[in-house]
Amino acid sequence: MTDREIHLGELAETYLPDDLLERFRERAETYDRENRFFDEDLAELKERGYLTLFVPESFGGPGLSLFEVARLQQRLASAAPATALAINMHLMCTGVVKAMNDRGDATLNWVFDEVMTGEIFAFGISEPSNDWVLQGSITEAVPTADGGFELTGVKIFTSLSPVWTRLIVHGSVVTDEDGIAGPDADEPAEGELVYGFIERSAPGITVSDDWDVLGMRASQSRATILENVPMKPERVSRVIPAGKHPDLLTFAITSNFQLLIAAVYAGVAARALELGAAGLHKRKSAKAGTTFAEVPEARTRLADAHLDFLPVTAMIDAYARDFDDLVDHGAGWPLRLVGARIRSAEAARRCAETALMCTSGSGFGNNHELSRIYRDAAAGLFHPPSADAARPMYAAALLDG
Ligand SMILES: Cc1cc2nc3c(=O)[nH]c(=O)nc-3n(C[C@H](O)[C@H](O)[C@H](O)COP(=O)(O)OP(=O)(O)OC[C@H]3O[C@@H](n4cnc5c(N)ncnc54)[C@H](O)[C@@H]3O)c2cc1C
Repeated sequence: MTDREIHLGELAETYLPDDLLERFRERAETYDRENRFFDEDLAELKERGYLTLFVPESFGGPGLSLFEVARLQQRLASAAPATALAINMHLMCTGVVKAMNDRGDATLNWVFDEVMTGEIFAFGISEPSNDWVLQGSITEAVPTADGGFELTGVKIFTSLSPVWTRLIVHGSVVTDEDGIAGPDADEPAEGELVYGFIERSAPGITVSDDWDVLGMRASQSRATILENVPMKPERVSRVIPAGKHPDLLTFAITSNFQLLIAAVYAGVAARALELGAAGLHKRKSAKAGTTFAEVPEARTRLADAHLDFLPVTAMIDAYARDFDDLVDHGAGWPLRLVGARIRSAEAARRCAETALMCTSGSGFGNNHELSRIYRDAAAGLFHPPSADAARPMYAAALLDG
């Protein structure tokens, strides 16, 4: 074994030992059936310091790299996809701050201190019908006299809704009646995008009680309704033009988001393949007089899913390591990051479907792990940008030089 493999094995043993994963896997079924949040998983993850993974040693954390965290997230997702997807949002927020710090911007380092004191960060970016995603917002951000903002709008699919204490959000600047947003160069202008953090204790926050979805149910990603919610001036991170605009914060968000979401679905795919193989070993063919593990058509089907899966883990590893090493892929970054996440989510769905065919009717039962995995994998269809939204970017990279 190489030194790196030994180190990754030690990380897995420290943060996600086998017995812990087994408990998570058992609970995943209950959380899904009862449509409830993963409170017990969260308590155990907290106890092991999982929420501090990205916090640098100088702030009291282990300072793991994106590569290391992505590997851990694959492992967690192989047992409890919804727990992994939701905790991803907290990890992503802290990974963003680490990425900025690694690139010389320490303005958000207060997040590390807050993580060490137990605050839970979440990601409030998705909005109904906002296919601009990071490049635009339909949440209104009204500047206040103290340099902060008041936000009004709806953020959908806020994972960790029962427990988050800090939410990163964006909004579009609108001039209030007093005309505070104005033409002065140092004042936010109408239509600019504000990024920053709001606190759970702030007035004006309502969490929707509507959450009955197909998969990833334990993530409890309920809508968050904001009504004149204050963003304190010291929690305003950026005011930038809407649309395409190079910025370290949004680059760090995209990188951590795409690769960590990819890691979750890679973990889902890996577990589906394991269950598929177990299914073929278990099922007997009266015709062949063997188990289906020896039936050529069944072997081929599983082999094809395996072929789909392997490049996904390679992409996540390679891109995460490049990101950690501050490699500058320039305009090639979004192509890589989004590609890894799209391919990973596709592999999860493909592997889950294949595995269902391997287990046959028994996997279709609601009490079978595979049936839940199949539904959890379906959530991968909805993370932005969709393949439809991304294709123009891949075409333009080749055609519109
Ligand atoms: C399991 C899961 C977890 C996710 N976690 C996050 C996350 O933590 N942070 C994040 O930013 N994005 C998250 N996403 C969002 C995701 O990345 C996409 O942006 C989102 O799914 C795109 O939705 P849509 O445009 O298809 O939504 P739409 O079809 O516009 O809406 C989807 C749902 O949002 C709710 N909704 C819509 N409008 C309103 C309204 N006015 N009031 C109240 N509720 C409304 C309804 O439940 C509706 O069914 C998550 C997605 C999934 C599937």
